[in-house]
Amino acid sequence: MTDDPFARWKLTPVINASGTMTGIGASRVPDDERAAVDRILAAFVDMDELQSRAGAIIARVTGAEAGCVASCSAAAMTQTIAACLTGANLAKIEALPTVTGERRVLLPMGHMVNYGAPVDQAIRLAGAEVVPVGTAAACETWHLANALAEGAAAAMYVVSHHTVRENELPMDVFIELCREHGVPVIVDMASEYDLTGPIALGASAAIYSGHKFLSGVTSGIVAGTSDLIRATYLQHRGIGRTMKAGKESVVGAMAALEMWEGRDHAAARRAEDGRVALWMRELADIPGLSVAPHADWTGNPITRVRVTITPQSAGFLAWALAERLAARTPRILVRDDLIERQEFYLDPCNLTDEEAAVVAAAIREEAERFRVSRDGCRASWSDIKRAREAAILAWSGAGDAS
Ligand SMILES: *Cc1c(COP(=O)(O)O)cnc(C)c1O
Repeated sequence: MTDDPFARWKLTPVINASGTMTGIGASRVPDDERAAVDRILAAFVDMDELQSRAGAIIARVTGAEAGCVASCSAAAMTQTIAACLTGANLAKIEALPTVTGERRVLLPMGHMVNYGAPVDQAIRLAGAEVVPVGTAAACETWHLANALAEGAAAAMYVVSHHTVRENELPMDVFIELCREHGVPVIVDMASEYDLTGPIALGASAAIYSGHKFLSGVTSGIVAGTSDLIRATYLQHRGIGRTMKAGKESVVGAMAALEMWEGRDHAAARRAEDGRVALWMRELADIPGLSVAPHADWTGNPITRVRVTITPQSAGFLAWALAERLAARTPRILVRDDLIERQEFYLDPCNLTDEEAAVVAAAIREEAERFRVSRDGCRASWSDIKRAREAAILAWSGAGDAS
């Protein structure tokens, strides 16, 4: 029997030019981290002790008083909110999602986004009531102050390319107003590189995915005040049981944080920028396609390549090209958040130089095929939206998904 999972289980290989996407396995986990996880998997360990040791590493890296590891960021959001509802009261922990007392959790409406599942659902799962603050694209000091005056158990602040970023309250103002009312702030930083900012500003907790830029195994890293972290960890005796972090998650997160501390960040950035330069060079002269370097939306140290299609001269629409790339073997996945604007992004963080060259060659090849076949402008955006829903619902547990 082969030990290659792709051959063994007939899986389709993927070249990832889309960034860190949990839908394709999030990260390529480095050897040292996998070795640490492998060794703990073969042993028994006191989980309370392990989580406490993880807390020390999280505290060191983030500047927080304490930390613990959840199964993922979404679980960490639910469990930190639960902690704000119960404190370290074990009876209240067991009673969730039934809450006695204050259960309002404030969330700027522009932060009520979907990262693969809705932010507000992760809050409601704890038994809380979500109170949207402001409107879709405007949250002002008076909106927050008024909501706080009416009472709240917690407030959540989301930093992400998914959120509205115009007319939102800056994190420092948000935290300051909440603190004036004694309301703890949980900051969702799942995909952000800044490990110290929210804690330095006085957030009660900050949440990071171990499997995103940290390249760890699936895990949710929670940094925060000692009391809130204790109450968060104790949720494993209640609703946290349904989102249990095993020893492999905890050790994976610990090893990922230690590797991050020791990583040569400048060298990693140079390698990524080299792939950006390759794409800028190789894609420069395709008719109807233009490329430009694009700085990350929330200020993470990543430059991507923005590819913009002019369908009249290219002979194809952006989503037609993305679909063709995804239908190849290996599948090539590009970052398609804004594809209805005829643009997509190439992300240099999760692929090798060789794979980056394959991506460039594939784009040239598919553009040329469209030029000859003249069928690149058939499917409208409405068609794509309908097709995407159908594709989601077509998943089958009988093993025949394509
Ligand atoms: C990815 C993401 C999450 C969910 O993270 P998981 O660890 O995969 O559960 C939550 N919030 C934001 C902003 C994200 O980007």
